Amino acid sequence: MDVLRYFDLYYGGETKMDMLEIINAKRFSHELSAEQISYFVKGVTDRSIPDYQISSLLMAIVLNGMTKQEMTELTMKMAFSGDVCDLSAILGTKVDKHSSGGVGDKCTLIVLPIVAACGIPIAKLSGRGLGFTGGTIDKLESIQGFQTSIPVSSFVDQINKAGMVLSGQTPELAPADKYLYALRDVTGTVQSIPLIASSIMSKKIAGGADAIVLDITCGSGAFMKDEESARELSLAMIQIGKIAGRPVTCVITSMDQPLGRAVGNTIEVMEAYDTLGGKGSDDVNEVSFTLAAAMIRRSDIGRDLSFEEAYAMAEKTIQNGSAKMCFEKFIAAQGGRINQNGSPVYTELPLQCAELVAREDGYISRIDALLIGEASMHLGAGRKQKGDVIDMGAGIFLVRKIGDFVTKGDRLALMYKGTKSLIEDSTVQFALSLAESAVAFSPLPVTLPKEILAILDETSL
Ligand code: URA
Repeated sequence: MDVLRYFDLYYGGETKMDMLEIINAKRFSHELSAEQISYFVKGVTDRSIPDYQISSLLMAIVLNGMTKQEMTELTMKMAFSGDVCDLSAILGTKVDKHSSGGVGDKCTLIVLPIVAACGIPIAKLSGRGLGFTGGTIDKLESIQGFQTSIPVSSFVDQINKAGMVLSGQTPELAPADKYLYALRDVTGTVQSIPLIASSIMSKKIAGGADAIVLDITCGSGAFMKDEESARELSLAMIQIGKIAGRPVTCVITSMDQPLGRAVGNTIEVMEAYDTLGGKGSDDVNEVSFTLAAAMIRRSDIGRDLSFEEAYAMAEKTIQNGSAKMCFEKFIAAQGGRINQNGSPVYTELPLQCAELVAREDGYISRIDALLIGEASMHLGAGRKQKGDVIDMGAGIFLVRKIGDFVTKGDRLALMYKGTKSLIEDSTVQFALSLAESAVAFSPLPVTLPKEILAILDETSL
C-alpha cells in the first residue's frame, strides 16, 4: 500500500505531522523530511513523544535505514538539542578525536599531547565508559586531584598553560542523543549504522569540532565486529561531515586483541605515560602516530603535509620529549598531582591478585579482546551498570601478545585489583577463567595482526 494512501485512510486525506505519520513513513521506507526529523528530535528532547513511539521509529530506522540527508538532519538536530560549545575564542581549526571504543584503548592520552606539542590547540570534551574499561575521563580520574570538569570559559586559559584541555561532557550536551541512546540500549536498536553515525557525530559537533578524526575500532572487542561494517560506519560519518561542513577522517584499527599491554585505568595511564616517554609498544605507537598524523593534517599548520610528513612530525614529539612535557603540563594545569620527575601520582595503585599462565607450549594465536575486557571489568576496572564505582587500581597487564612463543607455565598476564578492593576470591577466579578462555595457542608461528586496516576521508566516498 502506498504510504500516502495509508495516511488518507487514517486522516481522511489530510496529512498532518504527528508521530504516527513519521513512524509509518519510515515503515514504508520513505525519506523523512527535515521538518519531520526536527519534530521527532524536539519531541524526544522535551519528552512530548512517548517512549513507545520513539522506540517504534528507532526500530523502523534499524530495519529500513536512512538516506545521507536524513542522517545529517538527525545529527544536526541532536547536536543542537542542548548546549553547543562555542570554541571561537580558540583561533584556527579545532580538530577533535574520537574512538568508537576498545579494550586497552589509551590512545587519546597519547595522541592529544602529541598534537598539542606540534602547536595545534586541543580542546576536547570526553565521556565516561560503560562496560569493559572506563572512558578517558575515568582513566584521568586515577590521577590524584585531576579536575575533569573544566568550564568552556576557562578553555583558552588552560590552552595557554598546557596547549590542551580536556573536560567531561555536561548532561546538557546533545541531550536528545543521550535519551535516545538509553532507549536504544533497551529496545534492541543500538546496532544501526545511521543511528550510531548520527549519535557519534552529534556529540562531536555539539562539542565545537571544526574537523574530526575518528578511530573506528573493529574486531571482537569493538562495536563493529568486521572491517566491512567499520568501513560502512566510517563512510556514513564522512558523508555526514561533508554535508555538515565538518571534514572527517576515519582510521579503521584492529581490536581483535587488546591494544598495548595494559587494560584498566591507572595501568592504562601508566602505559600512556611510558609511551609518551618513548617506551611504547609497537601497536600503541603505530595507532597513536597514525591518529596524530590524521589530526595534524586536518589542522591549519598541517593541511599541506603528506601523511608521511605528518607521521614523522608526530614521532618527533616523542623523540624530543615535547609530547611528554605537554602531558605533564596538562595534568598539572587541571589540578593533577605530579612527582618531581613529572610522572602522575595515582589515587589507587594496582595490586597483583592473580596471574594467568600458559597451559601449553606454542605460539599465541589469539587474545580475545572482548573476553579480556570482560575479565578486567569483573576485577572492577569497568562498570557493569551505569553508576557503578570503578576500582582505579583494577585491570590486566598482558605480559605476552599474539605471535609470542611460550612454554607451559610461562606468565601470560597479571591480574590486578586496587589496594582497597573488597573483591571476593571467587570473582577473581571467574575473571581469571575468562582471561584463560581468551587465549589460544598454535604449534606454528602466526602472522601478526595489522593494526591499521584503512584510512578513509571524503575522497573515499
Ligand atoms: N557510541 C555512541 O556515541 N553512540 C552510538 O550509538 C554507539 C557508540
